[in-house]
Amino acid sequence: MGEQVRDGFAELYGTAPEGVWSAPGRVNLIGEHTDYNDGFVMPFALPHTAVAAVSRRADGVLRLHSADVDGGVVELRLDDLVPGTDRTWTAYPAGVVWALREAGHPVTGADVHLASTVPAGAGLSSSAALEVVVALALNDLYELGLPRWKLARLCQRAENVYVGAPTGIMDQTASACCEEGHALFLDTRDLSQRQIPFDLAAEGMRLLVVDTRVKHSHSEGEYGKRRAGCERGAALLGVDALRDVPYGELDAALARLGDDEEAVRLVRHVVTEDERVEKVVELLRAGDPRAIGPVLVAGHASLRDDFRISCPELDLVVDTALATGALGARMTGGGFGGSAIVLAEAADVDTVTKAVQEAFAAAGFTAPRVFEAVPAAGARRLS
Ligand code: ADP
Ligand code: MG
Repeated sequence: MGEQVRDGFAELYGTAPEGVWSAPGRVNLIGEHTDYNDGFVMPFALPHTAVAAVSRRADGVLRLHSADVDGGVVELRLDDLVPGTDRTWTAYPAGVVWALREAGHPVTGADVHLASTVPAGAGLSSSAALEVVVALALNDLYELGLPRWKLARLCQRAENVYVGAPTGIMDQTASACCEEGHALFLDTRDLSQRQIPFDLAAEGMRLLVVDTRVKHSHSEGEYGKRRAGCERGAALLGVDALRDVPYGELDAALARLGDDEEAVRLVRHVVTEDERVEKVVELLRAGDPRAIGPVLVAGHASLRDDFRISCPELDLVVDTALATGALGARMTGGGFGGSAIVLAEAADVDTVTKAVQEAFAAAGFTAPRVFEAVPAAGARRLS
């Protein structure tokens, strides 16, 4: 896709771009709704990427174009960028430029043409891919010398403040820092990370992503409620973040919450989910990848019953996959739609896929999009 985007840029702006970059979407293996609780996550990069051709400008103008959006080039003046004022796709790349400049980096303008194969709104982080590809391009072109984790932070700031979406740090860090053939074990408190070898194919297994094509309109409000509920739980327990409640002290902590049923559920999910991430890391390092199946299933149950962010389509994927021999399955991403992941023996993939498709048809749901996810590279310069 790099060549296509390079040619598209030349056609649009009349000259070749200074360079072409790519940044992937991601899927989260385990560690859901832990990233705003200072906890652990474990995403890996998808082969689906946002690709951007970019050149610098010296005149304070930002020109943006997406091959995937109807409409022409959008031209913005850097001095006019104001958080919360753009409700369209251009807020993501413009927000990155705004965040870089606000942090004091001398970005004086850019021409951008991009295209993406990350499905938008499927919980696979098309937004982070868009932000990170632009951030990396500007970091290279303007020789800012920012490390990957810092680019991720600036992209998160763009999304939180400029776009106005209250997301954690996982998506941007995954897109910026993941490595091919690995899952990224990330401590969201200090952004320390470890690359964990994750080569399922070598073990005769596959990981499927099932995009349910459902995006519930209330997902953002519910996200905010869960986030506020977790902060309330932490305050009740007298800790900075739920990450600070050790798994071994969970029962005592829950007892202290008494009959505050909501706090009990939210705290239980976050603390057990952090434990599940550590468990998966341990199992993968011990060379026992099949054993992560039940951990994924326990994670789904916790998101469904305690955190209450699943939906009938996601539950149907998980139940059907497990009933037809999958090793594990769970919803992934923010919830209320989006995608689920299914871990299966290579020999069972066709059976499981067909069963899920038939179950969706029988339930009258929109046909899901199913694809195999192989851990791919993080953001990089293509040319
Ligand atoms: P997700 O990150 O899970 O895909 P978000 O709602 O966070 O979902 O981000 C989706 C938004 O990102 C889209 O509504 C659009 O504004 C922007 N976006 C994603 N891909 C593209 C693209 N190829 N071109 C332009 N905008 C895009
Ligand atoms: Mg997003």
